[in-house]
Amino acid sequence: MTSLQSYVRGQWIAGSGDPVTLHDPATEAVLGDVRPGGIDHAVALHHARTVGGPALRAMTFVQRAEMLKAIASLLHERRDELIEISGRNGGNTRGDAKFDLDGASGTLAFYAQLGASLPAGNVLPDGSGTQLGRTPRFWGQHVLVPRPGVAVHINAFNFPAWGMGEKMACALLAGVPVIEKAGTPSAMLAHRIAQIVVESGKVPEGAFQFVAGSVSGMLDHLGPMDTVAFTGSSVTGALIRGNKNLVAKNVRVNIEADSINPAILGPDVESGTDTLEQFLANVAVDMTQKAGQKCTAVRRILVPQAMVAEVEESLIERLRAVRIGNPLDGDVRMGPVASKDQLRDVRAGIDRLAAVADVRLGGSAPMQDKGYFVSPTLLRARDAGAPVIHELEVFGPCATIVPYSGEVAAAIDLCNRGGGGLVASAYSDDRSFVEALVAGIAPWHGRVWLGSEKTQGQALGPGAVLPATIHGGPGRAGGGEELGGLRGLHPYLQRTAVQGDRAVVARSFGLETG
Ligand code: NAP
Repeated sequence: MTSLQSYVRGQWIAGSGDPVTLHDPATEAVLGDVRPGGIDHAVALHHARTVGGPALRAMTFVQRAEMLKAIASLLHERRDELIEISGRNGGNTRGDAKFDLDGASGTLAFYAQLGASLPAGNVLPDGSGTQLGRTPRFWGQHVLVPRPGVAVHINAFNFPAWGMGEKMACALLAGVPVIEKAGTPSAMLAHRIAQIVVESGKVPEGAFQFVAGSVSGMLDHLGPMDTVAFTGSSVTGALIRGNKNLVAKNVRVNIEADSINPAILGPDVESGTDTLEQFLANVAVDMTQKAGQKCTAVRRILVPQAMVAEVEESLIERLRAVRIGNPLDGDVRMGPVASKDQLRDVRAGIDRLAAVADVRLGGSAPMQDKGYFVSPTLLRARDAGAPVIHELEVFGPCATIVPYSGEVAAAIDLCNRGGGGLVASAYSDDRSFVEALVAGIAPWHGRVWLGSEKTQGQALGPGAVLPATIHGGPGRAGGGEELGGLRGLHPYLQRTAVQGDRAVVARSFGLETG
């Protein structure tokens, strides 16, 4: 049995304290454990700031981009081994594992390509300069410079590869060393990736450290140049945001939390159209991919009254066709949820929804004796406005049809009851409906994904997070923002306005001003 180790100050260190057992969620077999203690947090932070940071900043953006490219290639080379670990310790089918792993290597490769086109050196101009005095002699220019701190990345269990990969891509390209904390239930995959990164020798000493265990105490040692990027539930996010030291030192904190993502079917969409097909296919994928354990998965399915029966029937047919079982079996399309706790929470969540909605498929009853399996569960709201439907994230293969009148104002009102979301998806070929809907829901959602006849087959569905556009959302979604091309580097860079003699301003940073 493996007890996962942390990589701190150039050494693999065994954890201490009460072990948390890691399981194969399909068989409940014990695979290993994680022990929360054993790391001197202050030492890890000091090492990152004094060894890793300077080494990274001695490189240019372009050199750091080459480093990301090398890591992306390594992960791709080891894909089969990593898929196997993801299946065993995460309950992921081959397809689900690839979604996570290719998300990681793809995002690293994206930032490698983006970094290759950045200016030499370590300074990025932010916009063009501006005249500040009576003549252009006195000039102002915003610049972005790497912060001499450390990035503490706290990752959720559901994307052990992608979550870590996307965060480290941005921080390392910016020139900031990382300490990666894995979500415990699926930590074996993140741990293996950490081993691959360390063994590659591609990342300078101190620029990459890995924690299998707890980082709670670490937050008390962070300072003004450091950044915390957290992904997980809104409850843990609020705890982190409220950490006294982080508040006192104004440490940058980016929170990516949970979201009751809506999918809206427009009132114009009729039977047999490509737009309806796209809607049904995307909702069914979101409900079952990674057994519904995606922060971007659809949880509320807004359907005009007239189409409710047809949508429900079609979704039930699609969900029934999904083969459920051990994810390592090639024909299986949906595995178990990741842990026993997750199973308990999902079943309890389905029961809470069932108090205000009719269960049309699935439910909270155990599926089989062994393994943390949940049936795909489709509910239909009896009362579209019942708060629990808009407020409770059931992090599993579960969503609720919410009937609405077909009026855009009603759709906007229901969508925004989620209190701030990561992504809303809408399917319609009625431009006036779509324009009014986007205007009404955009402030409450980090991403609005629009499906129509013309987009059928053109792109991945709304559940996929792409590095070129931002990920994150307001309110309960955490209020954070990640990715979005160069924007993804901003949490790790300081924006400074440099004001003075135009020639001196330009020379200071090797920039062309104006
Ligand atoms: P979680 O329980 O909130 O844990 C998230 C991370 O925080 C884990 O690494 C966890 O470590 C750590 N943590 C827990 N308590 C902490 C504390 N007091 N101080 C510092 N770190 C602490 O969430 P989860 O169950 O792993 O993930 C599922 C949730 O994440 C869902 O709600 C999902 O919607 C959300 N999520 C959001 C996004 C997004 O991008 N917005 C992406 C993926 C998932 P341990 O595992 O060791 O407890």
